[in-house]
Order: sequence, then structure tokens, then C-alpha cells
Amino acid sequence: MEIFKEVEKNGHEQVVFCSDKKANLRAIIAIHSTTLGSALGGARMWTYSSDEDALTDALRLSRGMTYKAAVAGLNLGGGKAVIIGDPNSDKTESLFRTYGRFVEGLAGRYITAEDVGTTVQDMEFVRMETKYVTGIDRALGGGGDPSPITAYGVYYGMKACVKEVTGSDSLRGKKIAVQGMGNVASTLCDHLAQEGARLFVTDIYPNKAKPVVERTKAKFVEPEKIYDVDADIFCPCALGGIINDKTIPRLKVDIVAGGANNQLADEKKHGAMLQKRKILFAPDYAINAGGLMSVASELEGYPPERAMKQAEGIYETLLKIFQIAKNEKILTFEASNHLAEERIGQIGHIRRLYAGKSEFDGQLARFT
Ligand code: NAD
Repeated sequence: MEIFKEVEKNGHEQVVFCSDKKANLRAIIAIHSTTLGSALGGARMWTYSSDEDALTDALRLSRGMTYKAAVAGLNLGGGKAVIIGDPNSDKTESLFRTYGRFVEGLAGRYITAEDVGTTVQDMEFVRMETKYVTGIDRALGGGGDPSPITAYGVYYGMKACVKEVTGSDSLRGKKIAVQGMGNVASTLCDHLAQEGARLFVTDIYPNKAKPVVERTKAKFVEPEKIYDVDADIFCPCALGGIINDKTIPRLKVDIVAGGANNQLADEKKHGAMLQKRKILFAPDYAINAGGLMSVASELEGYPPERAMKQAEGIYETLLKIFQIAKNEKILTFEASNHLAEERIGQIGHIRRLYAGKSEFDGQLARFT
């Protein structure tokens, strides 16, 4: 692998290789962009089969965070860390505290959080060594579990999708097939049921769906059958890659809108296949940005209510994305990328304008 070529390809600013034999730490911190602010993104712990795989993942995920923060209107850049190891057996206090020291060394250019394979408890160790960590338990002054806000944002995003397709944003009577009954989906289903939507739900662990079925009168569907439900909306809230060659021909919906990350197995190919079938796709990183808004609120010292308000804004953001897609005759995820790039360009220009001019520094600090 030609490392510098890989790093330069998508304009990453900085990649930090963290190694400490004593702590058994091997980690990579990728900072894609700090144009809008500190690069924020979780630390993923995984048994990568090679260093190359780990770097590729860090580069891909950190770039995604830049776009997500930008389209969400947040003053944050994009970063991500990967810790190479088995989250079931390799976790130690010294590993996470050593990782924390590396994060501290970046002096706020990167802010870490939990992600796949790491937990709020792990971040407690990181927090002993750096203040540049977020996603802290509510009892310790943090914003707590961001999933209720993610769900709230997905709910508003879904309303925007219905508005785009039908002219009205009411979900009353709409049939919605929801995949995965975890943290995001279970709260989301409450909002949907409250508005009078008819729900079809599934989970590979039927027990996880049971409380939702009881609360919302949803119909339980076998996991493999969820793609075949004759509904208005398919709402993926489990894993990524589920919109693919096999599932698209089975969908009987007008809209795909859900909380899961990376829903399209191949962005370009499957985005185009959905469009060809006249199925509106809500770009996942735009509709599920509520969690990031929650984390950003925590960093700025605001209560979760502010993030709730911001999450309602996902409605307008999605309508804007759909408008751009129509005007420019592009796919919705491409329109979302355009919106993100436009904001990075414009705000980046403002920030560059004053950068390094010490006479403005105090002035700017007062206004931020
Ligand atoms: P979760 O782990 O609580 O829930 C996921 C659920 O999906 C689990 O109940 C699991 O059993 C189920 N599942 C897995 N594979 C399935 C399958 N093939 N068919 C049916 N069910 C399946 O996760 P979550 O926090 O609710 O997040 C859901 C998705 O949203 C993930 O893709 C996550 O990355 C994304 N997301 C979450 C947040 C957040 O705030 N939690 C924010 C942004 C994005």
C-alpha cells in the first residue's frame, strides 16, 4: 500500500499511528478535515486482518464524519480512530489510557468517542488522560445515550420524505417496515405510532421486538421477509449494506429512510437502482445525524433539548437535498455530498480569512 497516496486521495489532513508495546496499543487516528472545527469521530476497536485494512477503515470513516457534520450544520470536522485488537479480550485500562494520551497530544484537533467495539466505560479511562473525549454518561455531566435524538431526527427526516413524495408530511395511516428493533428503532417506532403510522417490525432477536409490538400494535415480520412488505416506507435501522442487488428488486415501497449507517452496499450503483425504481432514498448520514448533534451539544455545554431542536432541522435539510438532486439531476446521496462540500467551502473561506490575524483572534473568540 502506498500510504501517502491513500492519505492524499481524499484530502486527509493528518494520520497518526499510535504504538505502545507495553500497553499493547496499536491504533490509527485519521483526521480528514478540521475546516469546520475539531475532527470528531468515535474510536472503533476491531480485529482487523491487516494494518492496511485498519488504515483503509480509518480513512473511509473519518471522511464520512466530515460530510455528516457539515450537512448537519455543526461546527465540527471529521475524524475517526481505529484500535487494532479484539474488543472481547484485549481491553485494558492501560490500553485506553495510553490511547487517551495520544488523543491529548493532538491538542483538540481530534475529539474521540465510543464506537463499534468500545463503550462509555472504556471512554472513562480515556477521559482520565484527555478532555478531548465525548459521549460521556449523563451522570458524569455528558449527554448520555444519543439514540433518542437520532430517532427523533429520523422521524423528522421521514416526514420530509413523505412531503416530497405525496405533498403532505403526515405519517398517519402510512405503512412503515422497520428493520432492527434496537436503541434507535424502538424510540422511532413510538414517534411513528403516535402519529398514526401502521408498523411492520423485525429483529433477528424477536424478543427485542416484543416490547415495541406490545406498545405500538406493530405486526412482527420474519427478518428475511421485511424487504417484501407492501408498505410506503422501508426503514433500515440495523446494519449497513442492506440496499443491494438482491433486496432492491424486492422492495414494494416509495421511500427508503432509516437510521442505519451506510445503507447502500454500493453508493453509486444502488443509489441509481433505487432512483430507477422511483424509490426516494434519504441519504443515511443526513437523516441519522441526530446522534452527532447530541454529542456536539454535549461539547458546547448545552442540554439535550437543544439537540432535539437541531434534529428537527433534518426535515428542512432533506427537502434541500431533494431539491438539489432534482435541479442538478443527480442522486440524493450526491446532492447531500454537494450540500456538505458547499458548506465546507463557504465556512472554510470565512475561517481562513481571519486565520493567523492575531488582532482578530480575541474578537472571534468572543463571538464563538
Ligand atoms: P442497536 O445495536 O441497538 O440495534 C440494532 C438492532 O438490529 C439489534 O436489535 C439487532 O438485533 C438488529 N439486527 C441486526 N441485524 C439484523 C437483521 N439482519 N435483521 C433484523 N434485525 C437485525 O443499534 P442502534 O444504536 O439502534 O443503531 C442502529 C443503526 O443506526 C446502526 O446502523 C447504527 O450504526 C446507526 N446509528 C445509530 C446511532 C445512535 O445514536 N445509536 C446514530 C447514527 C447511526
